[in-house]
Amino acid sequence: MFLAAAALFLAAAALFQAAEALPHTRLERLPLTTLAQAYGPGKFGLSFELYPPKTEGGMTALFRHLDQLVEFQPSFITCTYGAGGSTQDRTLDVVSGVRQKYAVPVATHLTCVGRTATRLKEYLERAKSLDIQNVVALRGDPPRGEVEFRTVEGGFSYANELVQFIRREFADLGIAVAGYPETHQEAPSPDVDLENLKRKVDAGADVVITQLFYNNQDFFDFSQRCQQAGIQVPIVPGLLPVTNLAQIQRIASLCGAKLPAQFQADLQKYADDDKGQFEVGVEFAIRQTSELVEAGVDGIHYYVLNKSEAAQRVLHAVQLPR
Ligand code: FAD
Repeated sequence: MFLAAAALFLAAAALFQAAEALPHTRLERLPLTTLAQAYGPGKFGLSFELYPPKTEGGMTALFRHLDQLVEFQPSFITCTYGAGGSTQDRTLDVVSGVRQKYAVPVATHLTCVGRTATRLKEYLERAKSLDIQNVVALRGDPPRGEVEFRTVEGGFSYANELVQFIRREFADLGIAVAGYPETHQEAPSPDVDLENLKRKVDAGADVVITQLFYNNQDFFDFSQRCQQAGIQVPIVPGLLPVTNLAQIQRIASLCGAKLPAQFQADLQKYADDDKGQFEVGVEFAIRQTSELVEAGVDGIHYYVLNKSEAAQRVLHAVQLPR
């Protein structure tokens, strides 16, 4: 027990030192700690989602990009949680490193894949000991090479069960859950998917963050349907600014997001020109963001893919209501 705590402390200290060694911006310590506090009258919840880099070099580069992103005073920053084994520790490394370096609220993603309730509890205890106050609670996708999600014995089958568990065991943690403007790929119908989203909110989620989408009307329709279904927590659009056509085609096909034909055609014009694709993607993201902000969304969650350039361009171009 002592050895484990000491090892954890040393790992956190080493990470803190590595983060400190980089040139960085330190924000004033923000009073906000939980996700729910990011939204509401007079507030705009801006958040960024990262993924755990595989190498130390990737980690260093990530913090260089974050130095730029924190200038926009995000309400919180999250990091994804992989289905495999090793990246899960890296998720905690990233979120605790961000928390320590920038004093910004953070959330760890967590999935039910391959973990019993006991192991999920251990992970959350560890997260709490690292001053991580929020969780993006997910069922998760099947690990690579498997087609169907498999419930482990003593684990959970759906995200609503994980939310219920977190609420029971860690009442003070903030919880976000995933929502699908274009309907989750496994759901038999949009209505059933919405009922399942409501289960997660009724179990205690503070906010819904959506899957990426490129047609704002899908989001507006989804928000309205959520309201009609009695879902009262903020529904926050998740946006991925496109910077590379091949990459977005892959991601969109994995998560089932539609790319508008005109947008694809505009990107295709620059098939051999990375800079041209970046410009088209950024211009699209600026228009998408502006329209959402004008419609009065509670916040925006950017899937930044560990890079700062596109989000910076968008956030310099759009005046957020904050
Ligand atoms: P659930 O809400 O459990 O839904 C899964 C499916 O089951 C849906 O079709 C739903 O309609 C149905 N369903 C839900 N509850 C019930 C029920 N009680 N009974 C019957 N059917 C039910 N994946 C990762 O691996 N790591 C991440 O870090 C990660 N982060 C994400 C962040 C965001 C914001 C989003 C939008 C997605 C993220 N994902 C991540 C992907 C996510 O894990 C997948 O989309 C996964 O397939 C579903 O997860 P969920 O939490 O939405 O599942």
